[in-house]
Amino acid sequence: MKLTLPPRVSLERFHQALNAFEGVVGKGWVLATDEDRDAYADLYAPGSEAEWPAAAAVAPASVEEVRAVVRLANEFKTPLWPTSRGKNLGYGASAPRMPGTIVLDLGRMSRILEWDTDLGYCVLEPGVGFFDLYEHLQRAQAPLWMSVPGNAWGSVLGNALDHGIGYTPYGLHSRNLCGLEVVLPDGDLMRTGMGAMDGNHSWHLFPSSFGPDWTHMFTQSNLGVVTKAGLWLQPAPEASLLLTWDIPREEDIGWVIDTLAPLKISGVIDQNVFIPSWLGKIVLLGQRRDFWDQPGAMPDSRVQELLREHRLGYWQVQVRFYGSESVNRARADILKAAFRRHLDAPPQETAWQAGDPLSQYDVTMGVPSAVALQMGDWVGGRGAHMGFSPVVPATSKHVMAQLRRSREIIAAHDVDFYASFTLSGRFATNINMLMYDRDNPRQVANIRKLFNALIGETARAGYGEYRTHLGWMDPVSDTFDFNGHAQRRLNERVKDALDPNGILAPGKQGVWPKAFRASRSGGEKT
Ligand SMILES: Cc1cc2nc3c(=O)[nH]c(=O)nc-3n(C[C@H](O)[C@H](O)[C@H](O)COP(=O)(O)OP(=O)(O)OC[C@H]3O[C@@H](n4cnc5c(N)ncnc54)[C@H](O)[C@@H]3O)c2cc1C
Repeated sequence: MKLTLPPRVSLERFHQALNAFEGVVGKGWVLATDEDRDAYADLYAPGSEAEWPAAAAVAPASVEEVRAVVRLANEFKTPLWPTSRGKNLGYGASAPRMPGTIVLDLGRMSRILEWDTDLGYCVLEPGVGFFDLYEHLQRAQAPLWMSVPGNAWGSVLGNALDHGIGYTPYGLHSRNLCGLEVVLPDGDLMRTGMGAMDGNHSWHLFPSSFGPDWTHMFTQSNLGVVTKAGLWLQPAPEASLLLTWDIPREEDIGWVIDTLAPLKISGVIDQNVFIPSWLGKIVLLGQRRDFWDQPGAMPDSRVQELLREHRLGYWQVQVRFYGSESVNRARADILKAAFRRHLDAPPQETAWQAGDPLSQYDVTMGVPSAVALQMGDWVGGRGAHMGFSPVVPATSKHVMAQLRRSREIIAAHDVDFYASFTLSGRFATNINMLMYDRDNPRQVANIRKLFNALIGETARAGYGEYRTHLGWMDPVSDTFDFNGHAQRRLNERVKDALDPNGILAPGKQGVWPKAFRASRSGGEKT
């Protein structure tokens, strides 16, 4: 990718900045060729990756190097976009929101600094990937389980900092963070929670502080660079029991949610329950053309045939219990009795005991996998997807209304419908996977139009997205509009106070510093 300079920075000044960065991180760790820029582009960009170009990347190896780079970025006015491993596929990968921003690649900081099997936590640097931590725990035979996202190529901290979601009892990943170390936009270094006291032993255990706790000020945020963090891990259970139901009809999701939510809220179910629709299974079996070779969304008649051919329900519910065998059985009995009121078919039951092999593809057991990437291949070509991800209250009323609304809008744009709900307690996240061939301009234009329509209609109905692609951060932040965008005003005041030069991730989540506020998009029009 050709060079896009940071706004208001001359080529000469840009090169001076890169030289200065090189003085800190060493030769070879400032990456600024066209090929380097390609490596930091959005692999799944809905359109040209040149819409979100990084000018370069700089890869520090220590906290002190991060601090020095941040100070230099202030001096040269070259904005930085921190990434831990930059695998944020579907949301922009490692590409920055503002063209010409320099990626601050923290992948070299990849030490597992501490792990404690008694208290169930570890302390990680940002470059530690899910596979790294898994391998470490397995080799050490540590009785600790992880929680992983569907595609686990990325960083444990990067995912948690972006409010990532997994499918175990520890599935709300940002809630597992306890005690961050953060480089502030001026290069100062601070620790959140009890870590504010030098040498405090409870830093990664007590989730608050003395006075306000700033931990979540640094998640989905552009107010600091997280250089290490404590993360709670699940004690490995002695046994586990998985119940699987295929749920026949689309409208059944209403009773499913009304049945599961009270059990989740009361603690009978402790995991995040992932409920994918049928396409979530079919995308792993082949490409679209293997099942339907016509353009446009697959018709309902063909969907029904596929469900019969592959013996699938419209939805699949999998609930896993963790703990001692007798408690798992007792909990499972409560759930089975509740399901029997709506469905005659009993669940498939799969029991697991400590010492049994772990399935290589089971996110409910915290095993990292990249199998889910297969769905990127559904439409063929350079396949990709975006996820439209609103949060809804966990009741049939809200879930059914959301399902009908998004289904109607997606059908009106003639796109295959792949929805899932992840029940996390009082709310569910509704991920709608929108798949496209990046090299098909008609498909890309259609997906962009569809995404705008989904954001607008969903917000008008009273729901917002929990996370979104770079190109839609401004439109989504526009929908958070209480009292004339009071939250945005606060975000901007804090941003300007901490980051007067606007050098950390300008535009992330729609938060623009004064220096670059003119870059905010007024919303996608195409
Ligand atoms: C098929 C498929 C399935 C997926 N399933 C899931 C899923 O189930 N759940 C889920 O959560 N995601 C899912 N994803 C999305 C994504 O792949 C993961 O969330 C992935 O873990 C994010 O990449 P990363 O961990 O490398 O984070 P990064 O890309 O490193 O970080 C994400 C963002 O967080 C911020 N950030 C990162 N590190 C820092 C730091 N140290 N300091 C300050 N800010 C920082 C940056 O803005 C960065 O852009 C899926 C993607 C695909 C393609």
